[in-house]
Amino acid sequence: MSEPRPIYLDYHATTPVDPRVLAVMVHYLSEDFGNPSNLAHDFGTKAHQAVIAAALPVAELVGARRHEVVFTSGATESINLAIQGHVRASYRQLQRPIKVASMALEHKAVLDTCRYLAEEGLAHYQTIPVDACGQIDLAALEKACQEGLDLLCVMAANNEIGTVYPLAKISALVKPYGVAVFVDACQAAGKIPLDFQQWGLAYLALTAHKMYGPKGVGALVVRDNLHPLPLMWGGGQQKGLRSGTLNVPGIAALGETCRLRKLEMAEDEARIQQLRDRLQQMLQAVLPNMRVNGSATHRLAGNLHVSFPGVSTYGLLHKVRSRLALSAGSACSSAKGSSHVLQALPWPVDAYQAAAIRMGLGKWTTSEDIEQTAQILIASVNTLQPNR
Ligand code: PLP
Repeated sequence: MSEPRPIYLDYHATTPVDPRVLAVMVHYLSEDFGNPSNLAHDFGTKAHQAVIAAALPVAELVGARRHEVVFTSGATESINLAIQGHVRASYRQLQRPIKVASMALEHKAVLDTCRYLAEEGLAHYQTIPVDACGQIDLAALEKACQEGLDLLCVMAANNEIGTVYPLAKISALVKPYGVAVFVDACQAAGKIPLDFQQWGLAYLALTAHKMYGPKGVGALVVRDNLHPLPLMWGGGQQKGLRSGTLNVPGIAALGETCRLRKLEMAEDEARIQQLRDRLQQMLQAVLPNMRVNGSATHRLAGNLHVSFPGVSTYGLLHKVRSRLALSAGSACSSAKGSSHVLQALPWPVDAYQAAAIRMGLGKWTTSEDIEQTAQILIASVNTLQPNR
């Protein structure tokens, strides 16, 4: 008999594909497989219609309009298209670098794109400080606006510690200064309500594989009065913003993913939060020196990021590996560890000398999974931390 598979608690890294989404994808791989740019026959027309239809649920999930949706290969591409495209278009128009800011705990796709543009002399880049929970310092943001800021890159929710950012407040704060706001909504789309139009955002990136869709497909929402430069040139698809034959199976799957998320998000997230809170309580009851990281009040429902003092991250991950699929919240227990997210937090130095573990719960996490996870983690931490 084969060994049971480990319990999957890494939904921030990626998610399984919803079988209903898979069915849509298979249909456009095998039946309506035409090229959506070729409308000379029904195969192409059906594929074209599928792309048009998919834009609506994507837009509706984030409070945007369907013509603002550009399909991409995922969030990394969307992020690059937004930030590089905006900065390059501005440079071309103004003939000078523009001022860009982000928090230091953004995803590497944001950080490295901003740094690259700064190195190229196309932008001046600065980071906005955060507090120990990873929450943005609004006073520092306002100061940056007063000193002149053109583009703010801010995530909707953090992929390690789960902190959720007050986008309504942030966009209201920067609005009088005319700052364009780019939101990386990868971890938040399909989990919390987002309102692109109401918040007056310039760009919003999302990806299917964090919300029960396939890998390799995502979208960038672009406010319709903005004209970022494309990253690639070719057939001129998607109004020239993203050339290349459209990934119809992936796009149709993303549309179905977003449609289902809008319908099921509230109920799913409420259940996931109960499970997360139960797991947290079970661990805290027996492991009193465990620290819960991130914001207690503004946190993704499926996120539990914890530190165990006196234990090494890899020792713990290795010990549980055959039974639990977890992720290192920090790469090592020496110095500050290597997670750039944790390094961005103003923690006391000794707080980094602890195993940091990220747990991500999702749609198919069960209460039995949670009971077993608590038992396995408690036994493992107790073995690795005998003098607690
Ligand atoms: N931004 C955030 C916050 C993420 O969590 C991820 C995924 O790890 C990405 C961007 C990149 O997404 P993709 O894998 O679709 O390129």
